[in-house]
Amino acid sequence: MLAFYPGFVRTFDDLPGRVSLLIHSWNGCNMRCFGCHNYDKLIAVKPDASRLTAAQAMERIRSTAGLFDALLVSGGEFLMNNASEIADFLHRVRSAFDGAVIVYTNGSYPRKLRMLLEWKLIDGVHIDMKLPYHLLDPDEDSDVYEAIIGTVPTRKMRRDMLESVEAVIRHNGAASQVRTVRYPLLSDEYFEQIRAYVHELNDRHGSSVPYFLNPYHPPHTAQMHRPYGMEE
Ligand code: SF4
Repeated sequence: MLAFYPGFVRTFDDLPGRVSLLIHSWNGCNMRCFGCHNYDKLIAVKPDASRLTAAQAMERIRSTAGLFDALLVSGGEFLMNNASEIADFLHRVRSAFDGAVIVYTNGSYPRKLRMLLEWKLIDGVHIDMKLPYHLLDPDEDSDVYEAIIGTVPTRKMRRDMLESVEAVIRHNGAASQVRTVRYPLLSDEYFEQIRAYVHELNDRHGSSVPYFLNPYHPPHTAQMHRPYGMEE
């Protein structure tokens, strides 16, 4: 069942030029990334009585919809949830809110992602490409995977992550982006390989989805994906 962290955050910098409402699904994550800012609150801890149901989250969104023009749905990994529950929630969001709806994902669930794009339930995706998956073999490069995403993907998971990146680039949503954290454990070569891959996919599909290499902020110096509560 969908659950959401009770703190919703109004943010001015996740989508340039827009005021966004950032919400977090509270259903865990299939990765354990190095330096994850959400681990303590959203992954290590199971949803408790403070969690919001989908209906309660919808009511909050409806009652504050005039205060923002984009909704960002983050996690954990939101797309771990049941596909029909995700679709139903986003249908209800669409009926109550006219602004852009963006999903944040680690890319492990390409079929759900394609469904949301095809059904026009979302306007765009911020997808993490944390490593040059196209060049890293799960067996031979297991140590790099383990160090960065906290798990060694199966071949299927690796394929899924690449499929998701391609789906986002093919869709070419105006608010979409592919992004990587500049993990201090990695040399620049890794980031150049990801950038080149995104560039090549953009060329192949005639798309212009931007690639962002974001600075690494250790969790103890960063706010836990910003404060929880309706804050700015
Ligand atoms: S995918 Fe995101 S939420 Fe999940 S562990 Fe990695 S950084 Fe944290």
